[in-house]
Amino acid sequence: MSEKIWLSSPHMGGTEQSFVTTAFETNWIAPLGTNVDGFEQDLEQFLKEGDVAALSSGTAALHLALIQSGVSAGDEVICQSMTFSASANPIAYQGAIPVFVDSERDTWNMDPVLLEQAIKERIAKGKKPKAIIPVHLYGMPAKMNEILAVAAEYEIPVIEDAAEALGSWYHDKACGTFGDFGVLSFNGNKIITTSGGGALVGKDKAAIAKSRFLASQARDPAPHYEHTHIGYNYRMSNICAGIGRGQMEVLGKRVEQRRSNYQHYLRTLSDLPGVSFVAEPAGSFSNRWLSTVLIDPAQSNGITRETIRLALEKHIIESRPLWKPMHLQPVFASAPAYVNGVSEALFENGLCLPSGSNLTQAQLQQTTDIIRSLWK
Ligand SMILES: *Cc1c(COP(=O)(O)O)cnc(C)c1O
Repeated sequence: MSEKIWLSSPHMGGTEQSFVTTAFETNWIAPLGTNVDGFEQDLEQFLKEGDVAALSSGTAALHLALIQSGVSAGDEVICQSMTFSASANPIAYQGAIPVFVDSERDTWNMDPVLLEQAIKERIAKGKKPKAIIPVHLYGMPAKMNEILAVAAEYEIPVIEDAAEALGSWYHDKACGTFGDFGVLSFNGNKIITTSGGGALVGKDKAAIAKSRFLASQARDPAPHYEHTHIGYNYRMSNICAGIGRGQMEVLGKRVEQRRSNYQHYLRTLSDLPGVSFVAEPAGSFSNRWLSTVLIDPAQSNGITRETIRLALEKHIIESRPLWKPMHLQPVFASAPAYVNGVSEALFENGLCLPSGSNLTQAQLQQTTDIIRSLWK
């Protein structure tokens, strides 16, 4: 039996261990330390703009962004419906209410037209949303020009969930640097990993400095422990940051490898009836974190994304339906939602294919051979 082919597994570059070893040798086995500073600098250089605070997770980064955008109990926050639950959960941590907005077809991300409708209607109901959370799904940049224009018109801060989009660009600007805050994740399945971690990006130096303060238990300057704010234990550890510094050396390669996976799927599957892919709109560069495919059962002779998922599973190849929209999730059943059917159709017909940067040509070939055989 061949070994399991994963959807997206960690891929070390080789130098991670030496950064971790240095942390051991200097006994910096703690949150903060030279690796954390170094990792933040590496990220700032890569993104080309903004300050970066390295944190324990992308979820923590979203939470701190909401806190610093002034979101509190009873407030409403607009969030892309088609996303991972971690985009929306921190809204609930603040006792606030998510208002979900559906996607457009070109990028599968927040529909700017529906966003404006939602804002107008919420304002008419007497509650202006406190923040907007668009997401770059699977690395594909959202329509940020349009989203930022709507946000600017209504003067609502944008928290850009770029957890899946490190290494993606939109009109030559790095994803993560568009919002008032940007969120990155280094969870084990992301394009680079620190085994678990995240970062908050921001143009406002003072806000990022404040995030570091809040993330390390909000200790005011004093010889004893003095507190004027509620603090969080959200800082990244110096060990994890060491892994991150090594991973930053190979980020460019990881983007190339993931994009090459996508090219393989496009090349080998796009002639099959009912199979389609999502292309990069002009001006967008996707890191292709996950390669995704859409199956139209009306044209595929009844083959569905589930037929493919189960056929791959038989050969211990992992694939997964696209994110189930948040407005369909039981936990958010009572949240207001502005929908147009796009995310529901994507969830119904879409599948994430094995996408790791460490996949071999043989593994990719085996995967697409199995899929092609279903059409025979
Ligand atoms: C992974 C992910 C997050 C959460 O990041 P963690 O580091 O796992 O907390 C948030 N949003 C999206 C869209 C993600 O894919």
